[in-house]
Amino acid sequence: MIRIGQAGIPLSCKGRTNKDGIVYTKKVLDLDAIEIQFVRGLYVMTDEEAQFIRDFSEENDVEVHVHAPYYINLAGDEDEIKMSFEKIKKSAQMADKMGAKTVVIHPGFYGENSEKKTMKKIIKNTKKICDTLKKEKIKTKIGLETMGKQKVFGSIDEIVEVCRNVKDAVPVLDMGHIHARCNGCLKERKDFEDIFEKVKPLNLNHYLIHLTGVLYENGNEYYHLPIKKGDMPITPLIDIILDNKYNVTLISESPLLEHDAVYIRLQVEKAIMKRTGKEEANYRDLSDL
Ligand SMILES: [Zn+2]
Repeated sequence: MIRIGQAGIPLSCKGRTNKDGIVYTKKVLDLDAIEIQFVRGLYVMTDEEAQFIRDFSEENDVEVHVHAPYYINLAGDEDEIKMSFEKIKKSAQMADKMGAKTVVIHPGFYGENSEKKTMKKIIKNTKKICDTLKKEKIKTKIGLETMGKQKVFGSIDEIVEVCRNVKDAVPVLDMGHIHARCNGCLKERKDFEDIFEKVKPLNLNHYLIHLTGVLYENGNEYYHLPIKKGDMPITPLIDIILDNKYNVTLISESPLLEHDAVYIRLQVEKAIMKRTGKEEANYRDLSDL
């Protein structure tokens, strides 16, 4: 199954609450996923709003994910780790109330530490936070995002390694970040296939994927671009998803947000129509491909 949505409240949505955002995503855009953003700090969502989002998402089959605040460092000093635990825990508690599948985090920074030591710390602390969530009976999973800068922990190999060691954590495949970090390596089908090959040992039954165009230099992301303005093609990725009938959620993180989410949907539908020869496509149901 394929689900498509955007990161946060759609730009064209007049109401600016997450409640407005999820309703608009379904009723106006006819999309079926949203990643609610707590990125610029943890504003506290009321229980009432969280409950509304849960009920709406269940009744209308919209998948919910949450993005935790950007600044988290599971490889930092004691204070940073404590602060990171607090942010992740609060995000996860709210995510769980909303019935969210994943709470996405940026794992941390190397700082003065070697890659090896950073890895050790991140594995240890990810385990700890997953255990805490388990004790609180939180069903939302921790999602570790692939990161787009050299000094930030989170190459695809590193994220897979953490997830191999912490079975409750899942990778979040931010394709724009992977592309920036390898200085534009995602060009052809094979390049995207390599990514799925890398995550294969994790035996996932679902992939959360972030998509955007990205401006980068020397293996470092500068900023996000509209998908069409970037140099990472999305058709090879769509072909792989369709060929393997992967269960995926594609989240647009482009500055055009929902416009690019709809663009992704059109590209998926085009690819399906090419296969079936029909003039209509239902991207939610891939059973007759
Ligand atoms: Zn992110």
